[in-house]
Amino acid sequence: MSYDTQPKASHFIDGHYVEDTAGAPIDVVYPATGAVIARVHAATPAILDRAIESGVRAQKIWSGMSGTERGRVLRRAADLMRERNHALSVLETFDTGKPYQETSVVDATSGADALEYFGGLAGSLTGEHIQLGEDWVYTRREPLGLCVGIGAWNYPTQIACWKGAPALACGNAMIFKPSETTPLCALKVAEILHEAGAPAGLYNVVQGLGEVGASLVNDPRVDKVSLTGSVPTGKKVYAAAAQNMKHVTMELGGKSPLIIFDDADLEDAVGGAILGNFYSSGQVCSNGTRVFVQDGLRAAFVARLKERLEQVVLGDPQDPETNFGPLVSARQMDIVKGYISKGIEEGARLVCGGEALTQDGFWLTPAVFDGVTDDMTIAREEIFGPVMSVLSFTDEQEVIERANDTEFGLSAGVFTRDLARAHRVVAQMQAGTCFINSYNDAPVEAPFGGMKMSGIGRENSKEAIGHYSQVKSVYVRMGRVEAPF
Ligand code: NAD
Repeated sequence: MSYDTQPKASHFIDGHYVEDTAGAPIDVVYPATGAVIARVHAATPAILDRAIESGVRAQKIWSGMSGTERGRVLRRAADLMRERNHALSVLETFDTGKPYQETSVVDATSGADALEYFGGLAGSLTGEHIQLGEDWVYTRREPLGLCVGIGAWNYPTQIACWKGAPALACGNAMIFKPSETTPLCALKVAEILHEAGAPAGLYNVVQGLGEVGASLVNDPRVDKVSLTGSVPTGKKVYAAAAQNMKHVTMELGGKSPLIIFDDADLEDAVGGAILGNFYSSGQVCSNGTRVFVQDGLRAAFVARLKERLEQVVLGDPQDPETNFGPLVSARQMDIVKGYISKGIEEGARLVCGGEALTQDGFWLTPAVFDGVTDDMTIAREEIFGPVMSVLSFTDEQEVIERANDTEFGLSAGVFTRDLARAHRVVAQMQAGTCFINSYNDAPVEAPFGGMKMSGIGRENSKEAIGHYSQVKSVYVRMGRVEAPF
């Protein structure tokens, strides 16, 4: 397929593509073939300064506009994203290796949903009036200022929009730094927002590795940081932000439980486990990678899962028939292979998959382990690849305790026909996002985020507004001031 993956320049700043080849080169690799498909350069201090200065300037203009005017720009950007969905999806597939079958319905489209949703909310953001006898207090919901978004590599377009849309709706500017592994798509988001009428500099994109992210987090002109990434990076960014008491949102890793009771619909439960483990080749933070199956259903569950996994179509990710792509990088593939070896070493039974394909690119077949116990490495650590662990359980209280016995708390799912039990179980799950007879749905209307080490703050929904704005309260005295002396 001929497609120009090389961006016009590495960064998008102040309404323009901008280059500075003094920055370290970053090669962009197509995960399906291992071929270099583009090259960008990491931001230099001069580039970062330009991004910050223009962001601060644009934010002043933007926050002076009415919410309805801001919302109109975001909604126009949503329309442009939907019109260009095909080209954006092809690019996302090159950037990440995820099959077009996924990117064409999930990435730019969910980004557009966020722009549309927060565009719709922008005009209705208000403060409160609090009457105190004659006196009264009113509150103003004000923007934070200049926000920094730092992305992971699994959903580059979606992350750029999930952070940008609420930030902009609240009257902030944003500088977004995509993951160095997938630098291409966020540039398109910046281009589209500019075309939709955002003031130059309002949404800038700069490239670079962790140190570029760290420079942004440490800059005193930045007011808020929203990170999507791993727990170790989250700890560093949170600690750095604390030095200047900056606002933070942390969307971090997980090792989420998916609990399947004996009475569950077998096909739905298997389908949920497939979606929650193998979509995007398992590179999804909220995946339900610890699949607890009640004793009575376990054998049937594993047998049916194995059968359905035979239907995987692994191949050219740009082919709409392909439903399973490669891992994002050689490094990620090595990490996942390491976990598969560890699983075998520690005594789990490899039911199927886990084979590295001898072809170019970073291909690994979807792996299922049965007979996994709570203490095994594959049941404790986030793998971020197509590896499912099946664990068995006997009763409800036991599985609740075991499901919560993790440092993470991103998601949890339960499959059962007994709805009273379903609600009772999710009420006890230490997880920010739960599913009943489903897995991994992430509509923009619903809050998304983690408990415990999986993060702080929430993305999407009205909850996100509180994380991109601050409240000022104003006391108004109507009578005389009575002072003691
Ligand atoms: P990562 O933590 O290695 O990197 C994330 C981003 O942080 C990258 O852009 C990186 O350049 C940047 N970074 C690294 N060090 C930094 C520093 N010191 N200061 C500032 N920025 C720094 O994560 P990854 O490998 O890109 O992504 C995979 C991880 O992300 C997994 O743990 C996954 O669970 C998590 N994730 C979470 C969510 C969520 O919404 N909760 C979504 C997707 C991915």
